[in-house]
Amino acid sequence: MGKVTGFLEFQRETIGRRPVAERMNDWFEVYQPLPEDKTKLQGARCMDCGVPFCHTGCPLTNLIPDWNDLAYRGRWKEAIRALHATNNFPEFTSRICPAPCEAACVLGINEPPVSIKTIERAIIDHAWQEGWIKPETPTERTGKRVAVVGSGPAGLAAAQQLARAGHLVTVFEKADRIGGLLRYGIPDFKMEKHHIDRRMEQMKAEGVTFKTNAHIGVDISVKDLRKEFHAVLLAGGAEAPRDLKVPGRQLKGIHFAMEYLPLNNKRNAGDTVPEENWISAEGKNVIIIGGGDTGADCLGTSHRHKAKSIRQFEIMPMPPAERAGSTPWPLWPLMMREESSHEEGGQRHWAILTTEFVGDADGNVRALKAVKVGPAPKFEPIPGSEEEFAADLVLLAMGFVGPVKNGLIEQLGVELDNRGNVKADENYMTSVPGVFTAGDMRRGQSLVVWAMAEGRKAAEGIGEYLKE
Ligand SMILES: Cc1cc2nc3c(=O)[nH]c(=O)nc-3n(C[C@H](O)[C@H](O)[C@H](O)COP(=O)(O)OP(=O)(O)OC[C@H]3O[C@@H](n4cnc5c(N)ncnc54)[C@H](O)[C@@H]3O)c2cc1C
Ligand code: SF4
Repeated sequence: MGKVTGFLEFQRETIGRRPVAERMNDWFEVYQPLPEDKTKLQGARCMDCGVPFCHTGCPLTNLIPDWNDLAYRGRWKEAIRALHATNNFPEFTSRICPAPCEAACVLGINEPPVSIKTIERAIIDHAWQEGWIKPETPTERTGKRVAVVGSGPAGLAAAQQLARAGHLVTVFEKADRIGGLLRYGIPDFKMEKHHIDRRMEQMKAEGVTFKTNAHIGVDISVKDLRKEFHAVLLAGGAEAPRDLKVPGRQLKGIHFAMEYLPLNNKRNAGDTVPEENWISAEGKNVIIIGGGDTGADCLGTSHRHKAKSIRQFEIMPMPPAERAGSTPWPLWPLMMREESSHEEGGQRHWAILTTEFVGDADGNVRALKAVKVGPAPKFEPIPGSEEEFAADLVLLAMGFVGPVKNGLIEQLGVELDNRGNVKADENYMTSVPGVFTAGDMRRGQSLVVWAMAEGRKAAEGIGEYLKE
């Protein structure tokens, strides 16, 4: 454990954020690491509580108390070994995971929880700096070929596990770069993309082949894939966006978040985005519909474009400042959250429903009409609360309804569950023998940490199947 009395002696401290005025003018990560001596003291706050609920809070079941202790003692090499035992890419999770582990930390019952995510980041950053992260090549190859469709966190975690088990893995990605939403979606200011490139190099050395611009079901037939590979993993994400079908939806200037965000990732990567395709918030009144993570990413991006005004709409009422009684410890708390993008400005509106988009003579959106609503599930409009807001860029960030069905899924004929996601058994195998699924494609829109956990479990399922 850390220090017996550490939780009594030291206050919680976490990774900081760079000053708003500075970070608003660049696309670099917003974080400011905690110095090593302070991080070690955070490790000392771990109480060795006996039943570490943080394990169950973390979908990867990271061995948190073990590495908290090792970090406290400055035994960084052992700490990274313990961290990598359950987590392929801690540099991703320690930047963008919402840390359900901390919500489940036993110390969190009556004190601020252990700064688990901050410690995780210190361990992995230390390991990269020291050059301890090397390819882990298998001693024997099985000769079995596995195709992974989709290169998001689910596909990458599965591919690494399978390659290390000796299988010949090819990752197929329809985009021009590897990474899924880590690459195209999550803004650079939350996670810089060199983290993915570095891991790709490691994985290539471990024997993984990456094929980009390879759209399975379009460029490469499902039949050919099945012929060439002993097993296939579907890790194509949940890419079908939820639309807002109200009058005026066809107006110019209304875009899905995932039309807007990837263009910025591309520009930041040095690509030329033709002006006719570019979506800019510069000088505009922006309204983001959707109060979640994706909406916050649109907000931070629009700040950096220098929008004139930005509002973020959410249909749910404003959550309480502290953990709501309906979500007691160790559950993920319903409470108000302030992302880095909120700290940077913009106005948040709660319990509000858009009823119509209003256009100008040229077919461009110029405003939207909205009404305040009562609580879920009815969201009854409140009479007399109608209002019109100026808007010349509207970003729809209302989540995703599941995987895209045409192409890959239809051609394979895999069964879907009642939410429209790909159905799988406890080994992550779909209704088609030898075809597996993991991540958002199986569980619907979720988190990076869940995608990685599912990728690892699906790799186990595939390993067992290949033994038969
Ligand atoms: C804007 C945004 C911000 C987010 N921020 C966070 C965050 O801060 N923290 C967090 O934990 N989660 C966040 N999430 C959620 C998280 O990114 C996802 O849950 C996670 O990436 C899912 O991983 P995945 O591997 O299942 O799928 P994805 O990351 O979606 O990757 C799927 C990949 O499969 C490819 N693909 C699909 N079909 C095919 C095909 N037929 N052939 C070849 N390739 C194909 C796609 O191009 C894509 O690259 C965010 C999501 C969005 C949209
Ligand atoms: S991956 Fe997420 S839930 Fe797991 S220990 Fe890290 S921050 Fe916590």
